[in-house]
Parts: sequence; structure tokens; C-alpha cells
Amino acid sequence: MSLEYSFICPLKNGIHARPANALELIAAKYSSNVSLRNERNARIANVKSVLSMISADFKLNDSCKLIVNGDDENAAYDTVVAYLKNGFAESDEQLPPVCAEEISIPPSLKIEKQDYCTGTVVVKGLSIAKAAILNNLFTANIPSVFIGKDEELAKFKKAVDSLKSKIADSLTNKAKTERKILEAHLSIVSDPELAEKVTESIRASMNAGNAILNASSYFADTLKNTQSELIQQRIFDIQDVCTGLIEQIYGAVQKKDILVEPCICVAQNLTPNQFLNLDRRFIKGLVLSHGSSTSHTIILARSFGIPTIVGVEHAQTIIRTGQEIILDSNIGIVILRQSESVKRYYLLEQRKLNNRKKQYAKFVQTPALTSDGRQIEVAANIVSSQEADLVFNNGAQAIGLFRTEMLYMSNDAIPSEDQQFEIYKKAAIAAAQKSVIIRTLDIGGDKELQCLNLEPEANPFLGYRAVRIYPEFEKIITAQLTAIIRASAFGAVKMLIPMVSSLDEIVWVKRKIIEIQNHLLEQNINFNNNMPIGIMIEVPSTIFILDQLCNEADFFSIGTNDLAQYVFAVDRENKKIAKLADNLQPAFLRVLKTIVQQIHARGKWVGMCGEMAGQIEAMPLLVGLGLDEISLGCDNIPLVKAAIHSLSFEKCSRILDSAINCTSSQEVRSLLAANQNTPDFAIIDTDLIVTDSDSLNKEEAVKQAVDLLFAAARTDKPQLIEREVWNREAVYSTSLGYGFAIPHCKSAYAKANSICLIKFKNPIRWNPQEEDAVKILIMLVVKQDDSAGTHMQVFSKLARKIMHSDFRNFLLSNDDAGVILKFLKESLEIK
Ligand code: PEP
Ligand code: MG
Repeated sequence: MSLEYSFICPLKNGIHARPANALELIAAKYSSNVSLRNERNARIANVKSVLSMISADFKLNDSCKLIVNGDDENAAYDTVVAYLKNGFAESDEQLPPVCAEEISIPPSLKIEKQDYCTGTVVVKGLSIAKAAILNNLFTANIPSVFIGKDEELAKFKKAVDSLKSKIADSLTNKAKTERKILEAHLSIVSDPELAEKVTESIRASMNAGNAILNASSYFADTLKNTQSELIQQRIFDIQDVCTGLIEQIYGAVQKKDILVEPCICVAQNLTPNQFLNLDRRFIKGLVLSHGSSTSHTIILARSFGIPTIVGVEHAQTIIRTGQEIILDSNIGIVILRQSESVKRYYLLEQRKLNNRKKQYAKFVQTPALTSDGRQIEVAANIVSSQEADLVFNNGAQAIGLFRTEMLYMSNDAIPSEDQQFEIYKKAAIAAAQKSVIIRTLDIGGDKELQCLNLEPEANPFLGYRAVRIYPEFEKIITAQLTAIIRASAFGAVKMLIPMVSSLDEIVWVKRKIIEIQNHLLEQNINFNNNMPIGIMIEVPSTIFILDQLCNEADFFSIGTNDLAQYVFAVDRENKKIAKLADNLQPAFLRVLKTIVQQIHARGKWVGMCGEMAGQIEAMPLLVGLGLDEISLGCDNIPLVKAAIHSLSFEKCSRILDSAINCTSSQEVRSLLAANQNTPDFAIIDTDLIVTDSDSLNKEEAVKQAVDLLFAAARTDKPQLIEREVWNREAVYSTSLGYGFAIPHCKSAYAKANSICLIKFKNPIRWNPQEEDAVKILIMLVVKQDDSAGTHMQVFSKLARKIMHSDFRNFLLSNDDAGVILKFLKESLEIK
């Protein structure tokens, strides 16, 4: 006699691995046979076998019958039924969602907390190189000679006196914050402890420079261990002062020579000038304590494709010059010590990134067209003419923004008209009739030009910058305008004026242009008489006079970096409030829509060249806006073109209309996620099949599978999918016996339902307690809104198949990806 109990399956996702595992654990306590019959398909599952349960394909609302018989059937029946009545329904609860914001270390990257530090990602990438602590490198010119105690002491004393008076002199006319820093420096130069420490070293036969360096490290080490952050901050001041003292004795290091080999630069802060004065060939990465995603140093780093993270606390005291470090700005960490397994992880990462690059290679030379045939030009932002060839080779259809002020800043000198002409001409020729938008000088804000001697301002971003300074520096701007006008004879050159806030500013510039053109005519110098003149839309006042501006300008380019800072009243340098100036705020989207509509209504062209133009997640909104062009850092061009190809203009316009009616940027993000485009991918393909994996352990195996999805453009967030797979794995091991494991998950980060198959050269032990090692992994990743029930359908089919030796043997004995693909499609009835 057996005991039976009928019930309706209450689980939304059917009986999958976790509920099956819960039932198995209860049933296994009894010797009786415990089975479950699915009345819908007449399959009977052994409750003590998870595989058997999954294979029976129990779905929500299926009629089920529990059948128990054996010696302890009464006890077994009571316990299982009690669980079915009170607890089973909860066994299907959603796993907590994986949040994209937090930094998380992938399980495959086995690393101890003390071996890395974290920061905020501003330019993605990966770099492995020696660290260069910039402040220390400024002191690299200390000779080794020691000329005598008295002489070295005298040098030190003289350096102290001259640095003191230099700082004291510079105190006048300084803004409050700067003055406070200088006053702090003044007190450090006069500090008796510092003097004593240096004197002590000199007495022990160290020369003055090394004695100062020694004192600097001594104080840094002492202060580093204090609990107070404020006290720790003093380390940087001490280092600055010591650098100043050393420079007083030995002179400043030639800045270009600071970097002599490829390295990752570590600094508290780096101004655009300091950055431009470094030898760019050697900058493999940037690790900064300060900086935000639209500060100019970061824009430059993005433009040069230099991996960068900011907000790394005390980077300069934790990291030492010459130390080999890894900067992983895909997840936002700097690795300070590398084990063998860390090195292996980064080999795999490199392989993943190379594979992904190959995937997008086909978009390099194709024009950017939406699926319903609308064109949007994808252009590049550059800061030097040397970049022109590079950006066109990476798929740029034009140069949408040539930030010329960097030419002035890299030498802190005004380039002559002829020098500039050669530079602009070179870019125009490289573009071969594709347009080159050259922006006139945009000095001010965070872009200083010492040789102009502009007075320091309390609010430089609201101050004397860009077009506002042109009348005062008429000679300098005339030289630039002339150089651009002359270059227009060599290609499709256009001129763009920054920071316009009123009509008279553009009228002034246009009058100047006509004057210059007349002058060139008199001298028989060629130029394009119809060179288009454009205005940057960065200041909100322009939005209300677009009708008037359209009478003056031939085209417009939206500078979202400044526009957002002025629309939201958020300093673009201030990381603390950066979230308030979110480009995806409905208010900002409304502003953008108004701008594009008004300009288009008057038949004029409008592009976007701020950092928003390279924001992949915003692409449906940018397409929906109907922009004529977007201009971005060159690295992302193929990716952006691929995104545009997958979007329809019509659908994007609808998404934009919904977005502007959302009530927060979070809501806009959810809207974008819900409307994520599904590329037309089959659930399995040959690029998801690997037959000779050298993965060494379970973590690497899962990583390799998820990396296949990334390389195949089925996800942009492989690390988050990896975490989701592990979240399931933590609850229930997916090794199903017979040498097979089926890790799986549903994910909001999956763009397409996907199955990966990996065969391992050396079987992998999935769980320490299990003997049976895994020879084949089949990973199933299903999109979050799985309304068709693909997750359970495929999973249970797979589980059923794995129970058959024919299926297993075929996969074990075949290594041809094409053959495996065909076989899997037939076996799993995939069209
Ligand atoms: C902008 O403000 O968006 C822009 C492109 O100009 P910059 O970042 O150089 O100020
Ligand atoms: Mg700007």
C-alpha cells in the first residue's frame, strides 16, 4: 500500500533545481520510495533525485501526485506533505537582484582584500605596468654626490628660505581655498621637526636632496597609520613641500622626461596641463584620488583610450613607484600584489577583450544606420592632428570636435598662426573630405593657460572663459581664426564657437571672420568662402534664442558636459554632487528634445559632442532625439555603430517620449532596460561552443562561459551575469552527475537567451565532496522577462537528455563545433 497526496504546483517557475533540492533533502531522510507524478505529462520523478525531478517538467498549476511507500512511509509522508503545505511555495523565491552599481570582485578573481584598492571607473580598460607616483617622480633629479655636512646643511637652509619667500609672495590675490593650502605649506616649510629630520640625515652623510626625500617618507609613513583622514591628507602637503625644496636646490625636472617607460600614473590630482606635459606614449593607465567623469583630464584620458579610475583614497601612499600593478578599470580596482591565479585571471580577461574587439570589427567601416534606415553620423573627438588617422581607422565618419585649446596647453605657449595652420591642414587632409569641426579656443574653467595671465576666479566655470575672452585677446584669436580659415582650403573644415551665451558674441566672431577673409583675399590666399560656422549649445540662455541664433549659425553642437552643469547648477568637477547632473534626468532629456526640435524646425543641422554622446545606455534616446551626428572618444565608435544598427528610429522616438514623462533618471534607466533591444541571436551558435578548454577550476569554467557571451555581444555586463550564476550555485550545485554541469540563471543583463557548451581538457571537480568530475559544462542564461518559460523548458530538456548515455557519448566523442551545434539543436528541438 502506498500513501498518496495530490496538490497543484504553486511555483511560478515550476520545480527547478532549488525547490527540487529542498524536497530531495527531506525525502532522503527516509528509506521509503518517494515519487512525484506529473499528471499533465504522466512523468514520474524520484523525489530523491534532483535530476529526475527537473526532467519531469513540473510547471505552475500542474496537477501533481506525491506517492510514498516503504517501511517508514507514514513518517516520510507526514514530513513531505507538511513541507508541501507550508514552505514549498516559498522555495521558488526570487534571488536578490545583482546590483550594477557596487564594485564586486568576480569569484574567478581570487584575491585578498589587502591586495587591492578600489575606485570609480571613468575610462574602462585593462593595463598591467609599473606604477609611477607622479609627485615622487618630480624629484628624480637628485644627484648621488655628498659634498660635506656643512655645505649640504647650507643648501637645505637656503632652500627653506627661498621656498618660504616664494610661497609668501604667492599668497596675495589667491582665492580662499588656495590660500589655505599655501598657508599650510608655509607652516610645513618652517616645521622644526622637518628641519630636525633632514639635519639628522645630513649629519649621517646623506646629501640634502635625499635627506629631504627621507624625511618626506618618514612623515608619510608615520601619518599613514593615523585614524584621522584629515591628518592623512597632510601627507600630500608634506610631499608637495619636499618636492618644492628639492626643486629649489636642483631645479625642476624637465616635465617631458618624468616618464621614461610605460607605466600607470598614480597621483592625487592631475590637471589637464600636467597631463598634457607627460609623454603620452608611456601613460598606460591613470589612478587618481580626485577627478570626475567630465573633468578635462578625464576627457583627455578617454580620448586617448587610457584606462582610468578616480577616487582611489591615498593612492600615492599605498602604491610605490616601480611596483608592478594591474589597473582593472572594467571593475574599478588596482591590484597591488599578483599571485599566479591573479595573473591567470588577467590572461583570460585579455583573451575576452580581444575576442570582443573582433566581434565589433565588422562595424568599423560601415556607416551608422538604424534598422529602419535612418542615418546618424558617428564622429570622433580629438585634441591633436596626430589622432586623425587613428580615429578614421577606427570607424569615425567625421571629426565632430577638435578641442584646440590642448594645443596651447601642452606647451603652455601660444602656437603661431602658421603652426596652427599646419596642424588643422593635416587633420583636414587626413579626413579626405569628411567633415572636421574645429572648435576655437576654449580656455578657462579647469583649462588654465598660464601665459595668458588670467586672474584666478572664485567660480572659474562661471567665469572668464572661451568666447568671453576673445575681445581682450583679439590678436591670439585672430591668429587662430586665420589658421582655421586657411585650412578650409584643404578639406571639409567647419568652425565651432564655444560657450556662446548671447547673440552679440557670435556676431562679434562672424565680423572678425569676414575681416580675416577679406584680408586673405587681398593676399590671394585660398580658403573656402562657405566654411560653415557653428555654435556650441552649452549655456541655457541659448536655448531661448535659438530662432535668432539660427539666423547666424550654419550648425550646432550640443556640449552636454557644460550644458548639464549649467542646467542643474552642478560643478562638473565636483564628484560629490555629480549624481545630480545625471544626463538621464527627464529634465535634461526635455532640454535636449527642445533644442533638437527647434533647430530642425529651422532646417539646421545639430550634433552632440559632450560625453553623453558616447554613453551606450543612452543610445536609444540619442537616436530618438533625431540628432544628425554624435561625436565621441574614438575607442567606442564600433560599439556605438553596432548599437545604432540594432535600433529602430521609430521605436527610439517612442522610448524618448516615454522617457521625458518619467519622474526620475532611475525610472528612465528601467524604461531603457525594459526596452533593451533583443539582437536576432539563435539560442546557441558555434561561437558559444569551446571543445578544448584549459580551465583549471569551477570559477574559471564559469568565467569562460560568461566571457563567451560577452565576446559574442550577448551581454555587456559579464561580471554581473557571473555573479548571478554564482548566486544560484551557492544555493544548489549545478553538477548533475555523469560528468555534466548545467550552471544557469535568469538575468536582466542578458541581451539574448543563450546556451554555451564547454568541453574541458582536464575534468573539473565541481564540488569538493563529489567524486564525479565535470567534463562538459552547458550554461543556460535566459533574459529576465522569460514570459515564454524558456528557462525551465530548456533546463528540464537538458536534464532529461543528460540522463541518456547516447546524448552524453555523442557530446563526449565529438569535437567539431558545427556538429555539436546541429546535434544540440536537434536534441533540444531548437529551430
Ligand atoms: C561640453 O561642454 O560638452 C564640451 C564638449 O566641451 P568641453 O567638455 O571641452 O567643455
Ligand atoms: Mg564645454
